[in-house]
Amino acid sequence: MTISLASAVSRLGTETAFDVLAKAKAMEQAGRDIINLGIGQPDFPTPDNIVQAAVKALLAGHHGYTPANGILALREAVAEDIGKRRRCTVSPDAILIMPGGKPTMFFACLLFGEPGVEIMYPNPGFPIYESAIRFSGATPVPIPLHEETGFSFSAEEVLAKITPATRLIIVNSPANPTGGVVPRREIEILVTGLERHPHVAVLSDEIYSRILYDGVEPVSFLEFDSIRERLIVLDGWSKTYAMTGWRLGYSVWPKAIIDKANRLSINDHSCVNHATQWAGIEALTGPQGAVDTMVAAFDERRRVIVDELNSLPGFRCVNPGGAFYAFPNITETGLSSRQMQDRLLEECGVAVVSGTSFGAFGEGFVRFSYASSVDSIREAIARIRAWLPTAV
Ligand code: PLP
Repeated sequence: MTISLASAVSRLGTETAFDVLAKAKAMEQAGRDIINLGIGQPDFPTPDNIVQAAVKALLAGHHGYTPANGILALREAVAEDIGKRRRCTVSPDAILIMPGGKPTMFFACLLFGEPGVEIMYPNPGFPIYESAIRFSGATPVPIPLHEETGFSFSAEEVLAKITPATRLIIVNSPANPTGGVVPRREIEILVTGLERHPHVAVLSDEIYSRILYDGVEPVSFLEFDSIRERLIVLDGWSKTYAMTGWRLGYSVWPKAIIDKANRLSINDHSCVNHATQWAGIEALTGPQGAVDTMVAAFDERRRVIVDELNSLPGFRCVNPGGAFYAFPNITETGLSSRQMQDRLLEECGVAVVSGTSFGAFGEGFVRFSYASSVDSIREAIARIRAWLPTAV
């Protein structure tokens, strides 16, 4: 007899960006000069006022468990922030503080997914959606995102895919890995159409809602009362406040299921790190200048990387409206997206992530994270330009 694992384990996917990161770090340790445009995290430190708030909380003795749903002062700060930015009112009781953005998508898939159920998700999209859906036993139904529409989606196309087995639709705008932004009109059509499908819930991943360009205003699904009782909204501190390693996120839940989601928290992690929660309050209620500075820097880098990518033979890149990712089409180079990922790392020392790491509809694309300095972006593109004639 040997040990055996649950069959669900074989259905778990991964986030390739972490594999690329590990490989890039190992190559760096072996002496290679690597430019990392692979992992999706701001290259800025967490703003000092936030770090100081955590230090103060630790010195003040905030060392113990907190309620599983998070300390009230933080949930109040989140509710106030949502009220300011999202044209809606949310009660602190509707909020769960989470160890990052990811657990909310996993919990939502566990709460809704089981064999026989369909869950729709963007493809190419954040890879954990498909992984969590498969793990739950549900059938993942891709919403294909197209380059021609700037990687938005067609609400009519989404609505047409709904069946009696559909329980949940996952949406993400601004999006990873494409930087695509779904226009308000398309969201309105989707929400109105969902009135005809009251058995379908929505998970809206709004983690990049503060990283938007060209004066475009964020649209939150929380604005629409008609779906509030079947809507989960995911957000967090990781991207907005350069806090990826702190593991702090939140989600807004409908009354009917928040207790079930909180029970998953109690089973899974008990509560989020106590001092980190105080840092989260400072992030939301303190000065916001650092966020503006980071977004302005991302915007400058976006212009540089899109221009540079479009100047490379065989590359074509639409202008991303949000987040910090460029997602060029590389089909004309003749390389598959996986070949491009592997060869750019091995032969150019440039870490990027293949489009297929984000789903089958990502073939022909690669993701460049431009949360990196302008100089390193220019150097990466120069290396690729010099390499391309020998590569294809
Ligand atoms: N949602 C999207 C679309 C993301 O890109 C990410 C991280 O890359 C997350 C959620 C997860 O964020 P966190 O690091 O807070 O778990």
